[in-house]
Amino acid sequence: MPINSISDCVTLNNGVRMPWLGFGTFQVKDGDEVEQAVLWALEAGYRGIDTAETYRNEGGVGRAIRRSGIPRDEIFVTTKLSMDRMGRSEPLKAFDDSLRLLGLDYIDLYLVHRAVKGKYPQTWKAFERICRDGRARAVGVSNFLIHHLEDILPDAEFVPAVNQIEYHPYLTEKELLGFCAEHGIVCQAWSPLQRGKIFADETIAAIAKKVGRTTAQVVLRWNLQNGVMTIPRSVKRERIIENAGIFDFGLSDGDMAAIDALNRDFRISSHPDDY
Ligand code: NDP
Repeated sequence: MPINSISDCVTLNNGVRMPWLGFGTFQVKDGDEVEQAVLWALEAGYRGIDTAETYRNEGGVGRAIRRSGIPRDEIFVTTKLSMDRMGRSEPLKAFDDSLRLLGLDYIDLYLVHRAVKGKYPQTWKAFERICRDGRARAVGVSNFLIHHLEDILPDAEFVPAVNQIEYHPYLTEKELLGFCAEHGIVCQAWSPLQRGKIFADETIAAIAKKVGRTTAQVVLRWNLQNGVMTIPRSVKRERIIENAGIFDFGLSDGDMAAIDALNRDFRISSHPDDY
């Protein structure tokens, strides 16, 4: 299906619709900084907001959502369970803490932040309970490799709806994407702009020049055309707007292949097995 509007959504494996574009808030400070950034994003048309317990800015994210005046059901809120609160019952308390800080009575998507060794299978059981109780509209995982998913899938009442992974032109994760697609799990890119490092890439700069777009727009569009949702972060209004300008152009098969070919399995953050 063509993706040509900022309000376009993916239909998750439980029928819930989730925006292709969301706004990232990692390292955005609680208080004025995160409130202002989220308000600018909502003004620019973003309808997905990504936060996490560990970002310590859920309070500001919630305040921005309320200040925006946009009906709650038009905004898709994702938050994540902190790595130190995994287990069979602690996630239920952590979930309540996130709800309270956000000032919401449900979360759209609750993610297991990382596959902490020995803890993620029982954590997934707690997540299934949260979803069964209707307090999160969907549940998913983050930083799960194929072997982590294989550990939970045979016994799963709910297949994770989303796997949020490090994904950018230098880490294209073809095999993981294929596995997730086979199992009805949609992937979402974190650090899609490689935290700014991708701007030095000459191949992408040349494609951007050719199509009359910025490097950020080309990379984010490449995410979407590969079926990967994306959540760029910026605290600058003009960049927030720029990063949303990805719905009125397309990349050719040749340009997509050229960007795919940049893969070098390079991670900007820790390996998913290091937890
Ligand atoms: P991004 O790849 O989104 O890059 C953000 C950086 O790029 C910032 O320094 C920003 O600077 C700069 N930037 C943004 N847009 C532009 C632009 N158009 N031109 C030039 N520079 C730009 O990094 P993140 O690591 O923040 O990833 C995105 C989101 O993914 C996070 O915010 C978070 O929500 C999520 N995430 C999830 C993780 C997980 O484990 N599940 C891990 C890490 C992130 P400035 O603000 O100055 O514009």
